[in-house]
Amino acid sequence: MTIPRSHVLLEANYRQLLDNPPNVAVLPWGATEAHNYHLPHGTDVYEAQTLAEHAAGEAAKRGAKAVVLPTIPFGNDAQQLDQVATISIGTATATAILGDVVHSLQKQNIDKLVILNGHGGNEFKPLVRDLQARTGMFILVVSFWQLAPDIINEIFAAPGNGPGDHAGELETSLMMHLRPDLVAMDQAGPGATNDFALKTTRQPGVWTPRPWSKTHPDTGAGDPRKATAEKGKRCFEAMSEKVAELLVDVSKATKGELPYL
Ligand SMILES: [Zn+2]
Repeated sequence: MTIPRSHVLLEANYRQLLDNPPNVAVLPWGATEAHNYHLPHGTDVYEAQTLAEHAAGEAAKRGAKAVVLPTIPFGNDAQQLDQVATISIGTATATAILGDVVHSLQKQNIDKLVILNGHGGNEFKPLVRDLQARTGMFILVVSFWQLAPDIINEIFAAPGNGPGDHAGELETSLMMHLRPDLVAMDQAGPGATNDFALKTTRQPGVWTPRPWSKTHPDTGAGDPRKATAEKGKRCFEAMSEKVAELLVDVSKATKGELPYL
């Protein structure tokens, strides 16, 4: 008989949670959207959920009391609505979901929340600023692909390559490690992107959303073709270690230790 992982809410039973109550919740937040032609629409969900579970497990071995909530499967895909079956949730919806999660956790005296973001189009800063001020919940936002930059740069250092920011070498490697059964590598496009024609919109300090299908013909950003499961494993383990360290720190933090007030 296998023992359910008490740090994964979908698996844990009430007895486990009463005996070992968590003091920090991890909320993975993904998106369901096209990832070039070769990765599943659920890529961001698989990545965020698996990383959260793995990191919380490692953190538990070091005394952390973290519990991973079910992943929010939809994200902000407002610029991808012309792609078949893409569902986008707006900022008001995301704010409502996050507010209800915080409200529920506070009823159980859990006052620390780590959002593990798996989708570049999700923005949490204004939501968190408002919610933290209103509720006192200590909320952190982690964008996992920005963790361990030195290791990621080293893994994806080949000239003309690079991790890519969507369904490129990094995400493809991760999925080859996590769910090789769902990677259809022979269908992958090159992940080439089209620059904005208006030159002044391409300078640092200026931003406008990318009309995704026009700027990303195969929906990918970054060439996936040099991806390997081995690169994905190294990358996953490096990011997981960073998240685990954070969860240990946050779980053990006592009120008054900045920035936990
Ligand atoms: Zn993705």
